[in-house]
Amino acid sequence: MQLTAEAMQLSSLLDRFAEPETLKMAKLGRELRARGIDVIDLSLGEPDFDTPQHIKDAAKKAIDDNWSHYPPVAGYPDLRAAVCTKFKRDNDLDYKPENIVISTGAKQSLANIIFALVDEGDEVIIPAPFWVTYSELVKMARGVPVILSTTMENKFKISAAELEDAITDRSKVFLFSSPCNPSGSVYSKDELEALANVFRKYPQVFIISDEIYEYINFVSRHESIASFEGIKERVIIVNGLSKGFAMTGWRLGYIAASPEVAKACEKLQGQFTSGANTIAQRAAITALTTDLRPTEEMVKEFTLRRKRVLELVNDIPGMKCAEPDGAFYIFPDVSYYFGKTDGQTTISNSNDLCMYLLNTSHVSSVMGDAFGEPKCVRFSFANSMEKIEEGFKRIKAGLARLY
Ligand code: PMP
Repeated sequence: MQLTAEAMQLSSLLDRFAEPETLKMAKLGRELRARGIDVIDLSLGEPDFDTPQHIKDAAKKAIDDNWSHYPPVAGYPDLRAAVCTKFKRDNDLDYKPENIVISTGAKQSLANIIFALVDEGDEVIIPAPFWVTYSELVKMARGVPVILSTTMENKFKISAAELEDAITDRSKVFLFSSPCNPSGSVYSKDELEALANVFRKYPQVFIISDEIYEYINFVSRHESIASFEGIKERVIIVNGLSKGFAMTGWRLGYIAASPEVAKACEKLQGQFTSGANTIAQRAAITALTTDLRPTEEMVKEFTLRRKRVLELVNDIPGMKCAEPDGAFYIFPDVSYYFGKTDGQTTISNSNDLCMYLLNTSHVSSVMGDAFGEPKCVRFSFANSMEKIEEGFKRIKAGLARLY
C-alpha cells in the first residue's frame, strides 16, 4: 500500500512549491514515447547539440589525471580565475576569484543566492514571464514573489517607472533573465541603464541577473546590468555552461557577486553539495578560456531556426508572437483558442492547450502559467529543423480541428 504524503508526514516545505512544469512536460513526452508514440519535443530547454570535442577531451584528461577528490567548496581556484578571465573578455567586467562561486548548475547558483538573501516575508520582484524556478525558490525560502506583469507590445519588458512602482520597504531582490527564458526578450544597454538608475536610489535591493543565455543573442552584443556605476556590488550575475556550450548534463554554473554574498553561497553549498563535480570543473576551464567558435556555430543554426519558426507560427491562425531577440524559445499568445473544442476536449487555458497538443498532435510544449503568463505557450527551437517543420505541421493541423 502506498502511503499518502500526509500520512508519511513529509515536510510542509514540500507544499510551498511546485515541481518544474518544464521537466514535467518532458517526462510526459518520454512516457508517451515509451509507449511507442512518435512525440516531437518542443518543450526542451537545452541545446540539441553535442558538447564540443575539445571540452570532452579536457574532461577525459581530468579523469586520467585523477581529479577525483573533493574540490574546494567554492570551486577550483584556477576555474574561478578562468571565470574572471571570461568576464573580462566577454563583458569587460573586473572580478577576482573571491567574487566567484562554482555550483552544480546555474539552478543551484540561484538556489544558493535566494537562500543567502531572502528571509521570511522579504519581497522578490520578478518580471513575468519568468523562468519557472524563480518563484518556487523564493517560496521555499519563505519570501514573497512580487510578479510584475508585462505585455507582448512592450516585448515582455518592464520600464524603469514600473520597476520603481513595485519597490517597497520589503523589497529585497529583483530577479530577471536577459536574454529571457521564456520570452526571448533582451534588455538593451539603454533599458538596463534606466533600471540601474532606479536601483541606485534603493540601496537595500539586490539584483540577480541571470545571464545564462548570454551567447544566444540574435540582435546585439550581450550587456550586463553589472556594468553600471554604483550598483555592481549589489548585482549577482548568474551564468553557466549549460546553454552556451551545450553542457546541460555536466551541471556547471557560477556566480559573480560581492565577496560577502559569495561567502554566504559558499557556506550554504558546503552543507548542500560540498561543491560541483570535479571533472566538469576541469572541463569548464577549457570551455571558458578557449575560443567561442563552436558556440558561434551553434548560434548560427539557432538563427536559421528562429527565422523558420517565426514563419511557421505566423502561418497559424490566431497565434500572436513577438520575435525573440535571444534564447531559443518562442512564446506566442494562444488565448484565441481558449473556449474552443474539437468536440471532445474543450480548451480553457494554456495547460489544456499543451495537453491537447501532446495527446492529439504528439507535440510537447510548456504552458505559460508556469512562467507567470497564462495566455501563452512556450515552444523551444532547440530541436532539428526537420523536427521543427514536422512539429508545427502537426500543431497547425491540431489547432485547425478546434472550433
Ligand atoms: N536560468 C535560466 C533562465 C534557465 O533557462 C536555466 C535552464 N533552463 C537555468 C537558469 C539553469 O541552468 P543550469 O542547467 O545551469 O542549471
